[in-house]
Amino acid sequence: MKIFTQEILARKKIVIIFLLAILLPSLIVGYLSLRAFSSRREAVKKLLESNLWISAEAALKSTEKTLFEREKEALDRENFARLILQKEADQTIFNYSFISKNTAGKLFLLDNNYQIVIPKTGRENIQILSWEKNIKDNEFAKILKRAEFFEFSEGNYSQAGEVYLKCISIAPSKQHKAFALESLGRCYLSSKKYDKAYKVYSELSSKYEQLQNKAGHPYGIVAAIQSSEIDKLQKREEIGLNILFNLYKKILNGFWLINLPTYDFFISEIESYLDNNLQQEKFLKMHESYTALRKQKSHYLQELVFSDFLKREAIPKIKEKLTHSREGVEVQSERLLTTHREDFCLISYTILPNFYSNKTFYGGFYWDMNHLKKETLTKLFEDISKDSGLQFQIVDERSLNILSEKEELAPEDSLILSYRQFPLPWKVVVTQPASIGLERTARRENFFYGVLLAVIVVLMFLGAFLIARDISRESETTSLKTQFIHNVSHELKTPLTLIRLYGETLQRKENLKKEEKEEAYEIITKESERLSHMINNVLDFSRIEMSRKEFNFKNNDLAKVAQNTLDSYRYHLEKKGFSIQKEIASDLPEMNFDGEAIASVLVNLLSNAMKFSHKIKEVTVKLFKDNGNVVLQVADKGIGISPKDISRIFQRFYRVKNKIVSETRGSGLGLTLVKHISEAHGGWIKVESEPEKGSIFSVILPISGPKKG
Ligand code: ADP
Repeated sequence: MKIFTQEILARKKIVIIFLLAILLPSLIVGYLSLRAFSSRREAVKKLLESNLWISAEAALKSTEKTLFEREKEALDRENFARLILQKEADQTIFNYSFISKNTAGKLFLLDNNYQIVIPKTGRENIQILSWEKNIKDNEFAKILKRAEFFEFSEGNYSQAGEVYLKCISIAPSKQHKAFALESLGRCYLSSKKYDKAYKVYSELSSKYEQLQNKAGHPYGIVAAIQSSEIDKLQKREEIGLNILFNLYKKILNGFWLINLPTYDFFISEIESYLDNNLQQEKFLKMHESYTALRKQKSHYLQELVFSDFLKREAIPKIKEKLTHSREGVEVQSERLLTTHREDFCLISYTILPNFYSNKTFYGGFYWDMNHLKKETLTKLFEDISKDSGLQFQIVDERSLNILSEKEELAPEDSLILSYRQFPLPWKVVVTQPASIGLERTARRENFFYGVLLAVIVVLMFLGAFLIARDISRESETTSLKTQFIHNVSHELKTPLTLIRLYGETLQRKENLKKEEKEEAYEIITKESERLSHMINNVLDFSRIEMSRKEFNFKNNDLAKVAQNTLDSYRYHLEKKGFSIQKEIASDLPEMNFDGEAIASVLVNLLSNAMKFSHKIKEVTVKLFKDNGNVVLQVADKGIGISPKDISRIFQRFYRVKNKIVSETRGSGLGLTLVKHISEAHGGWIKVESEPEKGSIFSVILPISGPKKG
């Protein structure tokens, strides 16, 4: 009990020392260094953040400055003047998309009524309406009415044709003449005078090609279609198809500045006709060039679509903005963000005062967004990146990178800036790569410090555990030794006292009875035997400890040795009230062993059986052969041993900690010797025991004797 308490105290002391002297200071130092590290990181981070703000603002400003320059370059008055000149010189130039190698987009020009001047596409047919007004009351109108009466009411086409011929001869203008010619052709066609009709359409197409009829259709187109129709009727199919194919090319190339519905109408008519009729083998070549042409993008169509977009989306907004801007205030340039076919588009525009015929015009620039993204901004930010060391990304309203069109997560410390001067639908994400690096290093350092701290703590715990174990073992051995000295002194003192007492009695009292004398001699003999057993044990143990124990192996009869030892011990046992059972096999072979050592093994086992049996006093000694071994077994029905103690009872000085054992005399050396002797004979010892039921100690010795060497 005492030993146990001492052990706990020793462990507690170590834990307290460990906590106060090692763990606590280490944890404090660890905590302080981690805190110092993170506050340093915080400070550097703040510094980097403010730097990031300054640099990002500067970058955005310089970008906007560049965009201003590009805009100024595009909206230059000279550019529009050049376009007007070009328009007058050549009706069919549409390619003015690139302003310079840096600036890409389309220019457009509006007159003072916000009508599109450029791109050059068909206007609403104003001339025809005014022409109709002019002819109301004159001679031409009267005759025309008559002709139309014959044609539409009477269905008399030859009469109508003659009257139309008269109309042609008195026609006051080209418009009137063309109109009458078209009507004449129609009458010839209806009266199946194909040759005459063909001639009329040839004239119409050669002289009045660009003029338009009431429906806004150029006579050039109408005449070509009718001619090809006549060719078909006259079985001149190839000539007819050629006429249509040439007409198709001319329309695609914008030969006639017709509007989008007219364009769509004629193109789809001609295409469906050519698709159906060019399949034959004889038209293979024409079919090939037709298919190639169909695949190409029509510049004129693009201009039409662009004009259409301007009319629907841009011009109303420009008009509203400029009408509301105060008069007299010079407008440098304005910007407008709108959508065209679901894509965002940016338009810059400006007022061009006294531009053409002394009238105010409006010039505009439709930015090529693709070029802006992939060339202008990308290059710009590349340069800024190089100078500032910042990282740039441009993302759209859905946070997709506008170049890769993928979602790229902006790093935590990035700054998001919007354009202020330009209504661009994008945002600029600016990141300081140093802060990403800092973050990474910080995380790595934190992890490293954490692991280091954990390793140190684990090592400290391990060290403390090992020290505690050593100290508690040491203190256990020390207290076992103390206990041993106490036990041995007691063991020596008791027999010595008895020997002295009975010796003195024999010496002093002369008239002692015979029985009294015999009892005194017996006690003296018994106690000196116990004393010598005790001293033998201690001596043997010290020899073993110093590795000086020597055995005297001889060929001998084990049964005889066991029997003799048992006989000499029988007296002690019976005196204490023990009944002894013995089963000693008679067929045991002669064996090589140390007779004295084996006798001491049996004495120690018998002595323990006697000491630790309280209620049932039965001892059984067996000696038998078992698989090439001889087993010497001592069994009792005593107090037994708990499983946790069984592994320890062979340790030197160890005695089980309970009341009965502590009240019994002993040194804790007996079983240590038994084990040592058994092993010296090449054998071993086995214990089967159960508390309160008893114990069986078996010493197993090989018949072949101890191994040599
Ligand atoms: P000692 O007998 O001098 O105490 P031993 O080394 O012979 O020392 O035995 C060690 C311990 O083993 C004893 O103190 C006792 O607690 C236990 N022990 C030994 N033999 C028996 C037994 N037959 N029955 C119960 N306990 C025993």
